[in-house]
Amino acid sequence: MTQAVESRFNLLKPFKEQYGTVRNFIDGEWVESRTDRFLDVTNPADGVAIARVPLSTKEEVDSAVKAAHEAFWDWRSTPPVVRARYLFKVKALLDRHHEEIARVTTQEHGKAIDEARGETLRAIENVETAAGVTSLMMGYNLEDGAAKSIDEAVVRQPLGVFACVSPFNFPGMVPFWFWPYAIATGNTFVIKVSERTPLTLTRTLEILQEADLPDGVLNLVHGDKVAVDALLDNPLVKGVTFVGSTPVAKYIYARCGETGKRAICQGGAKNFLTVMPDAEIDRSTGNMMASYFGCTGQRCLAGANLMAVGPVYEELKEKFVAAAARLKVGPGLDESVNMGPIISRQSLERVHNYIDLAVKQGAELLLDGRDLTVPGFEGGYYIGPTVLDNVTPDMTHAQEEIFGPVASIMRVKDLDEAIAVTNASPFGNAASIYTTSGRSARTFWYKVQAGNVGVNLGIAAAMAYFPFAGQKDSFFGVLHGQGRDAVQFFTDSKVVITRW
Ligand code: NAD
Repeated sequence: MTQAVESRFNLLKPFKEQYGTVRNFIDGEWVESRTDRFLDVTNPADGVAIARVPLSTKEEVDSAVKAAHEAFWDWRSTPPVVRARYLFKVKALLDRHHEEIARVTTQEHGKAIDEARGETLRAIENVETAAGVTSLMMGYNLEDGAAKSIDEAVVRQPLGVFACVSPFNFPGMVPFWFWPYAIATGNTFVIKVSERTPLTLTRTLEILQEADLPDGVLNLVHGDKVAVDALLDNPLVKGVTFVGSTPVAKYIYARCGETGKRAICQGGAKNFLTVMPDAEIDRSTGNMMASYFGCTGQRCLAGANLMAVGPVYEELKEKFVAAAARLKVGPGLDESVNMGPIISRQSLERVHNYIDLAVKQGAELLLDGRDLTVPGFEGGYYIGPTVLDNVTPDMTHAQEEIFGPVASIMRVKDLDEAIAVTNASPFGNAASIYTTSGRSARTFWYKVQAGNVGVNLGIAAAMAYFPFAGQKDSFFGVLHGQGRDAVQFFTDSKVVITRW
């Protein structure tokens, strides 16, 4: 790295010194892991290791669960209004440290700093929403509900210890779809973040210590499958929330079913965007860029296949490629960069392989992002926006989740065909339509099999007070993260019938 570049990104150095080996947070204490298994955490911008993450043992995970279990009774009997006040403190701390948290995310994940700021904001909004627990958790009653002088009521009660297993791509946001609601409703919590991006939440919990949550209410363990299995095997864990790839989502959902744990398991995605002949292309391309290339395509709501309906194809192709070619790729901390690096060398190779295969299977490369080097950051994992044309739904890369900045243009004759192709995918996370016709939009959202639908929006991301949905292989469960769904998931209905 040149001297000039090093001074521009001088946060890297103190960051490395600060973290060394990441610790677990158990029962209100930062604890060194006694494991003999560790992984390096690298900054994808330059490939330099910035920390080391322990792959915790089963015993360490069990100790976190035990701490959460022991904290449960006092915490569940703390009035909701008081629990909410802790969340107000959490919110104030997150607001105060917003920029710092975002910078940590960019350094371990690679995403552009503005994207990391947005991610932190989404986390804060979940805290704000969960702080409404006094209203959200209320039960209901009916006097003389069972018979004369026999009243009937429903109360919502917390269950105990819940756990979250989160993916690398939104390290500062995904755990917030769950833990604020879990603890607001009186449960205690253990988080297992991705071993590839463990720093954001570690730093966040350091910051949140000032909120003075009682020891054991919120715990963090680092690790891999061993840690996840320890959570799944522990009978004190009442429910697990998972966000990550589909095979692991299926595995965790099945394991929770066997042991009677509640589960929300969000899986992978392959999202289709449909562009109708009446779409406003000029107004939409910026939005499409964010969908396909935001977060370097490593987003479960990212556009993957782009379906041009009938005559819109030529104009869409020309404007889409031109806009993609203008995106600036580089280290995420550079404010002028639109797209950061991809998470790892291994992921980079995987994306290259998908592009190679697509070309072998007959796709045409309109824009090739491979062979990109960023001066001063030669060790980084960069790939530019890539656009493939003449793609058909049977091609491997058109079916499987690539998780990289690759857009595949397909031609379809009409809306019915676009919906049929979309619905043929085993995934059902998100789908969007670009149109100026209310009728087309309505037909689309009515029929399309996806949990998050955008109309003239390429990233249909639910706000904190709406559920984060998903269908087919993208979601296993009933209730979702965020908002009222999360409150229901983390509480059980108890019916009380009284006669005096
Ligand atoms: P991943 O499945 O590899 O890892 C997710 C978590 O599971 C990590 O904490 C990891 O340690 C753990 N894990 C990995 N393998 C495991 C195993 N065999 N047994 C038990 N635990 C295991 O996913 P990732 O690569 O970190 O994240 C990217 C994936 O997440 C993509 O498929 C993306 O679509 C998906 N995702 C989905 C959503 C959604 O809302 N549906 C949101 C974000 C990301």
